[in-house]
Amino acid sequence: MSYNPLEIEKKWQKIWEESGEFEPKEDKNLEKKYILSMFPYPSGRIHMGHVRNYSIGDAIARYYRQMGYNVLHPIGWDSFGMPAENAAIKNKLHPKKWTYENIDYMRKELASLGLSFSKNREFATSNPEYTRFEQEFLIKMYEKGLLYQKKQTVNWCESCHTVLANEQVIEGCCWRCDNPIIQKEMPGYYIAITKYAQELLDDLKTLEGKWPSQVLTMQENWIGKSNGIAFDLLFDDESKQKLNSKFESFDVFTTRPDTIYGVSYTALAPEHKIVTYMIENNLLSDDISPSYITTPSRITRTIPPRISLPSTTTQPATRPLGILNTSLTSA
Ligand SMILES: [Zn+2]
Repeated sequence: MSYNPLEIEKKWQKIWEESGEFEPKEDKNLEKKYILSMFPYPSGRIHMGHVRNYSIGDAIARYYRQMGYNVLHPIGWDSFGMPAENAAIKNKLHPKKWTYENIDYMRKELASLGLSFSKNREFATSNPEYTRFEQEFLIKMYEKGLLYQKKQTVNWCESCHTVLANEQVIEGCCWRCDNPIIQKEMPGYYIAITKYAQELLDDLKTLEGKWPSQVLTMQENWIGKSNGIAFDLLFDDESKQKLNSKFESFDVFTTRPDTIYGVSYTALAPEHKIVTYMIENNLLSDDISPSYITTPSRITRTIPPRISLPSTTTQPATRPLGILNTSLTSA
């Protein structure tokens, strides 16, 4: 017997569809298994990455069904986001039309692979019955004081009209469209996730030996909690005068307080309020171009303390600001 995929796959997919083969059973006595693969973003067409990803989940779901488990293997669409809006603007279509048409097309493509998803439980994250819960979460977080507004310098892509996470900036360019990104100060809403840093770190420990260690390290780095001390570095009198007495000091955080007395210079980020003040009041020396502030390379500038020489010769990416700290030993 020869294997004709066009014939045999169609035949069995039809039988599965009609018998509801992959729907979980309403039987509370059976042992349950929930196999969830990451929802695809409905960009329009399935690609080989999807095929690989969903074949793995499908194999696991089929394995557990064969082992007698009551398996729920759902599928949905990660369809609520900026790319849908941008595509809609570009194609002069309502985002809803664009998104749901893509979903219809990709659903057919996925189905042709014979994946064993539960069809009855499919949904899209842009469905109102889903987004209402997201909105409810946001309101609850706001009420709990976990949502706050602040102005921050962000990575901005002028062509996507969107803010990018650091991970989405590849060599100074947008990961989606390759447009060079700029640093832009914008007000925005933020979620105080740092309040949960310790809880998250503690729970990561329960995954040791179960998750790959490099994934645990990545998670730890994302949580980004570090222990150290924050302290103020004072300006000397001349520098205070130069800054029109607007600033007495600036605060520093270090994870290595034991090395403070070995400091040879301190650097301020280009978007630091003192640097902004110096630019606005023309206090930078002539060899520093204020255009640094909008470049994505984040060139830092130094404030050499009085006790040591400026180290611009060994730090070519930094520029002396010409303001000095008081010596640490006398501060
Ligand atoms: Zn972009």
